[in-house]
Amino acid sequence: MSTETVIKPDHEAGRKHFIFTQEHEDLRESMTDWVKKELYPHRNEWEETKWPDSAMQRAGELGYLGLCFPEEYGGQGGDYYYSLVRAEALSHSANGGLGMGFAVQTDMVLPPVHLLGTEEQKQKYLAPGIRGERIGALGITEPGAGSDVAGIRTTAILDGDEYVINGSKTFITNAARADFMVLVTKTDPDAGHDGITLMLIDIRDENGNDLPGFSVAQNLEKMGMLSSDTGELAFEDFRVPADSVLGQVGKGFYHISWELQSERLVAAAGSNASAERLLETAIEYAKDRNAFGRPIGKFQAIRHKIADMATKIEASKQFTYSVAWRVNNGEYPVREISMAKLLSAQMACEVADQVIQIHGGYGYMKEYEVERAYRDLRLNRIGAGTDEVMLEVIGRSYGL
Ligand SMILES: Cc1cc2nc3c(=O)[nH]c(=O)nc-3n(C[C@H](O)[C@H](O)[C@H](O)COP(=O)(O)OP(=O)(O)OC[C@H]3O[C@@H](n4cnc5c(N)ncnc54)[C@H](O)[C@@H]3O)c2cc1C
Repeated sequence: MSTETVIKPDHEAGRKHFIFTQEHEDLRESMTDWVKKELYPHRNEWEETKWPDSAMQRAGELGYLGLCFPEEYGGQGGDYYYSLVRAEALSHSANGGLGMGFAVQTDMVLPPVHLLGTEEQKQKYLAPGIRGERIGALGITEPGAGSDVAGIRTTAILDGDEYVINGSKTFITNAARADFMVLVTKTDPDAGHDGITLMLIDIRDENGNDLPGFSVAQNLEKMGMLSSDTGELAFEDFRVPADSVLGQVGKGFYHISWELQSERLVAAAGSNASAERLLETAIEYAKDRNAFGRPIGKFQAIRHKIADMATKIEASKQFTYSVAWRVNNGEYPVREISMAKLLSAQMACEVADQVIQIHGGYGYMKEYEVERAYRDLRLNRIGAGTDEVMLEVIGRSYGL
């Protein structure tokens, strides 16, 4: 290297990842602006009241719910990367419950309707779902079966031209507000994995009243994600038309396993982005807070914590993006999706813990809001498949 060409580190260089185009970045900017203006200011209030349906409607009006769906249903026709951009933008709401409620709609309920639904089902659920006029919920988990999806007991038995549904679901996000559901049922209880069928059903009428045979048995109190509603649902001789089947009869286990993959990768993007927001808060705090006559960020112990978090966040983010690139290019990399979900969730929980530590006693106070992230993020190691289930999927993928 000659003396004229001294190259210095450029820490402020642009960090746009190669998977994202300028259109993705423009969307990120406009959506982040909206989140900061219209959602972030309500982050504390909504912990008490739950986020309002009007927030979803507004997102629909602005086109944020249909980013990856075809224009003929009111979507924007974008690629899979837009799901990641949306999850990242929502992290600026500083409200995990809202991000989760939105993700149920955009990344868990609507994708299977789009992939598997008949034209009639798409008109009835996908199009109004994209507009934010109808809100959906996903019902997999039951009191007796969570990780073990094939162990569910809810039945949907054909009776003439109707299915009769009986059973209960628990921990269901959007339970108190949803108009419709993708429900995992057993149409042939003796057929194991091949007896599972997805149902796409209305659960409330246009006035928001429960349809006969459906009820919320309990609104559940929880540790975090407080702005989101979580419920236990009961179906008692709940009758739905035979054409409520989503996808193929008996193939529901495989359909839902597919749905879980994209949900997990979006969850990974959300974990990474939440960790990034926490890191920004910690850096700011480490510069402002003085102890022993200097900003705490000047203590190596704190600086190293920040460096360590920044390194892990960056690695997890890059890995998530590389897996998303494979998905967007037509692969189905279940092993790596599971790795991204596991790594990002554990990393985000570790970051939340360290960021509270950096804030000292203030980290423990509600006022500084890092305690909320700590509580909210803890779910990411449980929901959408626990750490242990991710490890099982990864381990078994090597033939073990
Ligand atoms: C706030 C919240 C929102 C949720 N939203 C929804 C929703 O909208 N829709 C929905 O369907 N579900 C939802 N869930 C449920 C969530 O997906 C389940 O809680 C999760 O899948 C784990 O199931 P479980 O709670 O029954 O735990 P279990 O399956 O009973 O697991 C208990 C423990 O055993 C471990 N374990 C289980 N199987 C194995 C194994 N094979 N090997 C090693 N360890 C194992 C688990 O990792 C865990 O540590 C939500 C949960 C919460 C808390």
